[in-house]
Amino acid sequence: MEKDKNRNRRSPIFLIVSMLCFIILIIIIIYNFYSLNKSSTKNKELNNTLNTLKENYNIEINKESELKNNIDELNNIDNNISKTKEEVFKLASKLENKITNNETKYKIAYLTFDDGPYYSTDKVLDILKKYNIKATFFTIGLDKDICFDNKNYSCADTYKKIVDGGHTIANHTYSHLIFRGLYNNSELFINQVIKQEELIKDRTGVTTNILRFPGGSNTAKSLCRNDIDKIMKSLQDRHYGWVDWTAQDGDGGYLPSYEKAWSNFTNSINENIEVILFHDYSNITISMLPKAIEYLEERDYILLPLFYESIKVNK
Ligand SMILES: [Zn+2]
Repeated sequence: MEKDKNRNRRSPIFLIVSMLCFIILIIIIIYNFYSLNKSSTKNKELNNTLNTLKENYNIEINKESELKNNIDELNNIDNNISKTKEEVFKLASKLENKITNNETKYKIAYLTFDDGPYYSTDKVLDILKKYNIKATFFTIGLDKDICFDNKNYSCADTYKKIVDGGHTIANHTYSHLIFRGLYNNSELFINQVIKQEELIKDRTGVTTNILRFPGGSNTAKSLCRNDIDKIMKSLQDRHYGWVDWTAQDGDGGYLPSYEKAWSNFTNSINENIEVILFHDYSNITISMLPKAIEYLEERDYILLPLFYESIKVNK
């Protein structure tokens, strides 16, 4: 009797739980259906863009404006489709060659942001998205579980946001401790590179092989002295390339005024292929970033993310 009573009491609950499960199942099915649809449309758009690009990339100088439009379209390409990205980078390599041979009026600017992620990295990502351009982020890993510039937040997910935004995520060593042992010996340095490579892979699924030495390659050379050859050899063995910079606003190390940062920036832009150093912690850089992007685009710079094959990546 007591058993029957219990069963009667349980059955409405059982019915409600079953109904809930059924509803959740229906929601999952509908969601998957729409996701699949969305992804296949994206692929289609991507292939169209690529085909247009290929057709128009029989680089004739009088077709430059079309080329520019197509390169602008590249920025809509889904970052996760690595095969297409490889083709895009091949085209960017060709453009670099044309620029080097003075066969085009167009120029390239690689915007790079060092030392992040920070809480303020989101602002940088928003601006880049608004202007529909891709950049490169040289990230570190130490103390990023809590954002340095806003301790109420974690920066752990920002690595993935960078990759999802279609930007190049690159290695700036795990600790960046230039004057606290980073360059003491080659083994220690390479371990710091590997540690950051693994962190990036873990958080984003991307294996990077682009490095910027903390402080730049000249700092590395002067602090490592005899070990620099070993470091360069180890990097080559791991198929790494490294990048310095050719322009900057001076936002690292000290805090320039807006006016000073702007004049530093504009005075440093004078090459046909620029690698521009910014830091995503700098509020000055963030406040002048829209104007800096417009400044470059008005001067025929095409803004692209760095890639291993670029002539600016030392191998
Ligand atoms: Zn740095």
